[in-house]
Amino acid sequence: MVYDIVINNGSIVDGTGDSAYLSDLAIKNGKITKIEAGISDKATIVIDAKGLVITPGFIDIHSHSDSNIPISNKLESMITQGITTAVVGQCGSSLAPISDETFDLFKKEVDMWSPPGVEVDLSWRSFEDYLTELEKGKCSMNVVPVVGFGAIRLAGGPGYEDRPPTSEEIVKMQSYVDEALQAGAFGMSTGLIYSPQVYAKTEEVIELARIVAKYDKIYFSHIRDEGAKLVEAVEEFIRIVEESGCKRGQIAHHKASGIANWGLSKKTLQIIREANQRGLDITCDQYPYNRSMTSLITILPPWVHVGGIDSILERLSDVKVREKIKNEMEEGLTDHENFAKHQGFEKIFIASVKTEKWLEIEGKSIAEITKIHKLKDDYETLFSLILDEKGEVWITIESMGEEDIKRIMTSEYSMIATDGSGVSPEGPLSHGKPHPRFYGTFPRVLGKFVREEKWLTLEEAIWKMTGFPAKKLELDERGLIKGNYWADIVIFNPETIKNEATYEEPHRFSKGIEYVIVNGKIAVEKGEQQEVLEGKILRK
Ligand SMILES: [Zn+2]
Repeated sequence: MVYDIVINNGSIVDGTGDSAYLSDLAIKNGKITKIEAGISDKATIVIDAKGLVITPGFIDIHSHSDSNIPISNKLESMITQGITTAVVGQCGSSLAPISDETFDLFKKEVDMWSPPGVEVDLSWRSFEDYLTELEKGKCSMNVVPVVGFGAIRLAGGPGYEDRPPTSEEIVKMQSYVDEALQAGAFGMSTGLIYSPQVYAKTEEVIELARIVAKYDKIYFSHIRDEGAKLVEAVEEFIRIVEESGCKRGQIAHHKASGIANWGLSKKTLQIIREANQRGLDITCDQYPYNRSMTSLITILPPWVHVGGIDSILERLSDVKVREKIKNEMEEGLTDHENFAKHQGFEKIFIASVKTEKWLEIEGKSIAEITKIHKLKDDYETLFSLILDEKGEVWITIESMGEEDIKRIMTSEYSMIATDGSGVSPEGPLSHGKPHPRFYGTFPRVLGKFVREEKWLTLEEAIWKMTGFPAKKLELDERGLIKGNYWADIVIFNPETIKNEATYEEPHRFSKGIEYVIVNGKIAVEKGEQQEVLEGKILRK
């Protein structure tokens, strides 16, 4: 037998949480075929992993590479940090389904989420057609699709209208969810702070989650509030999972946002524990940073979003409406996650803009920009930015406290996820100053929180990155170093692994990831990405 790859002398952390052990490992035809000490058979490629750790490829259970994949399927920032499988379609934003009637609105929404000058060719309509199209292309990593409620509400529901759906609309939306789950989506996601999803009452989501229950799949959610009403939002999430009967839920990028709300994770993790004790399967994920990232328009109260982006811009060009928004936000009169009031404009930083006009403000806070440009106040800056950029501004918000980050990371219910997307230091995806989590999430956990701070053991951290998400997703033969499993593998140096990306200079690759193997092919060799696109679109 001549193996494709043999890896010698490495320390295997197999993804189950069990202790590391020294062994060799052989790969043939994309699969792990032998794990034992002293493999002396011939191999096309031999890797000496002395002093290095061999783990399953990292599974990013919450990411947003959807519209990046059609632009650049190398997904550099993701694969170089060891990710071999990424779940897309999160926060309610998937690229399908699409209906002809609302195509234009949907297209605008997708363009808003894409880099400047980049357009995604939305040639499909159904989820099945979308997956078939994805399968025609290639990708550096495996992709796990989820259908987004945002797309569903636009395609078959009330869209950007702030009202409950009619019974016909519920049936129509349910049929879209059904079609997506039959096509192979692993579940449905929501992002209940985003328009148009923000208009949905709990009951509307429950009706759709019933279809998720029918197929025994997963309900993923960016819950309705991560700040002052965090606890209520987690309770709503559990109610959706429980009443719909779907039982399996994943809370996205769990956090307590805003200094006044620090400490709330104690209560939310208690609620999660109780739900699991009642027989539900509730877990969460987290990125290891104290800033979040979202689009600037999310700051505005929900009523401003009615009708979609064109209506937002129309409203903001009216001075009276601007005054009304400012007053409501300052006084805290609105029922939404009010970042401006709770975090403050000095904690809200511009990640990226699309026009030349504002390019030099990337990285600065809104409060700083107000001073530099001598604008009347921070609201004036906010409105001018949204209008000039037609809403296409991304921000990071300094909002989390270390105690909550630690409590969530060390909880038995949490996994590690980037909430990022595949970008690159060069080309169309090199735009702006994205959150450093896009490049550094997994290495940061392994470097800072395992090696330096010792919040987790290496084995615990690897479980949260591999075996745990694989178990949740019920991935076939992935997520562990085990005989006959797919050879999705990371080899890294535990002494040097480190994230290099910062808020100021985010487009920097991490250090210490030596090899990344996807389906038995070497995608990253000695830290350098190869021209290898061996990822598969996984269907459930
Ligand atoms: Zn989200």
